[in-house]
Amino acid sequence: MNKRLILIIVAVLVALGLGVGAWLYYGQADTPAATAEPVTYSGYDFPASAKEIDWKDREIFKAGLVDSAVGSLKDLSRASTYYISLEIAPDLVSPIKGHQIVRFFNTEKGALTEIYFRLYPNFQGGKIEVSHMTLDGGAMIPSLESADTALRVDLKDPLQPGESLVMEMDFELSIPTEMGGNYGLYGYFEDVLVLDTFYPMIPAFDENGWNKQTPQNNGDLTYTDASFYIVQVKAPADLVLASSGVAVDQQIKGSTQTTVFASGPARDFYLAGSRKFVEINEQIGETLVRVYTRPEYSVNQAYALDYATHAIEILSRQVGEYPYTEFEILSSPMRALGIEYPGITSIVVDEFVDGVELYGMPSEQMLESTLAHETGHMWFYNTVGNDQQNQPWVDEALVQYMTYIYYLDRYGDGDGYVESWKYRWSRVENADIPIGLPAGEYHGAEYSGIVYGRGPLFFYDLENKYGLDTVMSAVQSYYQDHLWGNGTTEDIRAALEDACDCDLSAEFEDWVYEKPYVE
Ligand SMILES: [Zn+2]
Repeated sequence: MNKRLILIIVAVLVALGLGVGAWLYYGQADTPAATAEPVTYSGYDFPASAKEIDWKDREIFKAGLVDSAVGSLKDLSRASTYYISLEIAPDLVSPIKGHQIVRFFNTEKGALTEIYFRLYPNFQGGKIEVSHMTLDGGAMIPSLESADTALRVDLKDPLQPGESLVMEMDFELSIPTEMGGNYGLYGYFEDVLVLDTFYPMIPAFDENGWNKQTPQNNGDLTYTDASFYIVQVKAPADLVLASSGVAVDQQIKGSTQTTVFASGPARDFYLAGSRKFVEINEQIGETLVRVYTRPEYSVNQAYALDYATHAIEILSRQVGEYPYTEFEILSSPMRALGIEYPGITSIVVDEFVDGVELYGMPSEQMLESTLAHETGHMWFYNTVGNDQQNQPWVDEALVQYMTYIYYLDRYGDGDGYVESWKYRWSRVENADIPIGLPAGEYHGAEYSGIVYGRGPLFFYDLENKYGLDTVMSAVQSYYQDHLWGNGTTEDIRAALEDACDCDLSAEFEDWVYEKPYVE
């Protein structure tokens, strides 16, 4: 995710008349026909209760996966599966009523005595309240922790490795209309309803236990295991919905639609909607790329479709095949340039306004770098996950480097984009701050300058020493080795050392690791 700090820095520069042009390339977009193909619905029956669920049946998820990714359904038989139903009122701002049934397996080595859910709307300017929780059918009362962003569920009997349980709950979401919280990613703003990490979400469990820490000041929030989601949305019939996964059923009765989405494996489930959205789309290989925005933004909408189809094609070839049959892009107001979710990304609406300069550049050039970056997250963040709060460089610096790969592959030259990293780093006086710190340890402009600037320069430095093929071979093996799992700093180091057949201790000390305090 590109942060508001970047916006502020760039805005300050623009105010100073410095501009930041020349680091982006101007791509000529083909203008596709503005047609929205209707989705084919299979007539999926959303289960009325937990008893009706056949947990082993993963057939419905095949609709959202390209052929090469279907094998993941078998590999991830113990991944969590969520059944979520939502009721969105016609005014789009009344509290949203939700119900969730989730099956969770203990895939750890030891018994679990508690399970956590993250309640991020409580950090995002909104509110989520969970009620009527049951555990394998028995009522229970969970408790809140970490500034109400973590819900602890104590288990009467420890859950042994390989065992599973089913939890069911109601939840209610308050929808803010004033932008606040985490970059304005959750709420209803200028005709767009955006529901970022809105449901009770099971976090990752790693060597430090459950990821239940209070959110830090910078960075993206989620750290989860790949899971499966079937989500039924009752909403006004004229609300155009954009989401993770694919629509597998839609019924329209009077002024109400009931649409069911299936998504997975995926890190998260995202949903957005607007009555103002129009769609254009284009098929690339097995993947349909769909772009939603308001009709007045049709010029940059066509650019977005062009950038996204090229990014999907290029990174599929350079890293590994994009796993889903859909990739969606929407415009929304936010205090960031863009934010990634599984199979979908939201881009700040300002970048869809054509014919204007944005932070010293034509808006469509800003759109290209933002969209290439967010598309890169489909590989690093979604397919290979990571602890975004404690090791943000693992996806952000790598995705910055993947954005450079997009420019290099598409235009034969990535130098302009490399300049943008140097520029970002220069904003913090090229400070020798490690790129591998937790998000909350960076102050002010450091998060942007170090993680998004110095971070990709580390990969670039390795490219200059060992060659592009060596670095990309490491990226590919890191991707394949951690497909649908989570990767860490040490996993990236192992992939790089394997590829260069060398010891990178000195490089990691210089660039990545926290240095011991020296007076
Ligand atoms: Zn990012």
